[in-house]
Amino acid sequence: MVIVMKKDATEKVIGKISDKMTSLGCEVHKVQGKDYCILGLVGDTSKINPNQIKANINVQDVLIVNHPFKLAGRNFHPEDTVIEVDGVKIGGGNPAVIAGPCAIESEDQLMTIAKTVKASGASIIRGGAFKPRTSPYSFQGMGEDGLKLLKKAKEMTGLPIITEVMDEVNFDTVEKYADILQIGARNMQNFALLKRAGKSNKPILLKRGMSATIEELLMSAEYIMSKGNEQIILCERGIRTFETYTRNTLDLSAVPAIKELSHLPVIVDPSHATGRWSMIEPLSKAAIACGADGLMIEVHHEPEVAMCDGAQSLKPEKFEKLMKSIEKIAKIK
Ligand code: PEP
Ligand code: MN
Repeated sequence: MVIVMKKDATEKVIGKISDKMTSLGCEVHKVQGKDYCILGLVGDTSKINPNQIKANINVQDVLIVNHPFKLAGRNFHPEDTVIEVDGVKIGGGNPAVIAGPCAIESEDQLMTIAKTVKASGASIIRGGAFKPRTSPYSFQGMGEDGLKLLKKAKEMTGLPIITEVMDEVNFDTVEKYADILQIGARNMQNFALLKRAGKSNKPILLKRGMSATIEELLMSAEYIMSKGNEQIILCERGIRTFETYTRNTLDLSAVPAIKELSHLPVIVDPSHATGRWSMIEPLSKAAIACGADGLMIEVHHEPEVAMCDGAQSLKPEKFEKLMKSIEKIAKIK
């Protein structure tokens, strides 16, 4: 961080700011020019609030050199983090594919889909039991009964399971059943939920908020990590833009950007990004080609009667085809 003092700032004022910065834990290097004095701060600047410094009338500007995230940052942790759940690795090169219905609707529905995605080579099964719906009149999910069915799907297939946790109230319940807990786009900045996730010993899949910058996503990961849980998988799932043909706009540049900035694994969800089943295969291939550590794909055997997100769900045979094509891409990477 660099503090640029105003031209007329006195020695006394500069000394006071400098002492304050030292007391907050960093080294201060003063450079006195002809017209300006600048203070270069080095070391741990995480406890310094740049807005507070900017509020000082003697300060001209504050320039931020370092990223505000630390635990999530690659600077502090150069090697890729690999998360392992029941022998499935996420991160470090092997693309992991999470597949299943948007919402768990019945035993028959979940078991049928779980069987087919396992047969096609998916490594983790997804299914929402607590659904964040835009309308209060839409299907809200089966709740704990849905979690029990997920557990059954795990017993049947041997695959680990992931499901969304929407609030602190249901956290303990979801945590009991799930192998990975998903925090959805709408909750990416639910700080109370992030802090609770930080106390969990289960990996967290953190989805990017629909209006969140990459830095905000990484700061949300930092919230979880700062409470002790360092097992985080990030997920790019499309952001809101002016485009309306697709449900969101898939920001594939987030993948290499996150790889530069962070050591955490990053996966891509082309289902929620596009809202259109026909776009899932091409974007899945692109995601793997640009370095994503995996995919999250919605699959339904009868999308036309799905209670949630049928239009963006692949039929099992289309999912099987997708798995074959991404396998080829992963090999040539
Ligand atoms: C989901 O994965 O079921 C979901 C609701 O996704 P998102 O939070 O990305 O909208
Ligand atoms: Mn969905």
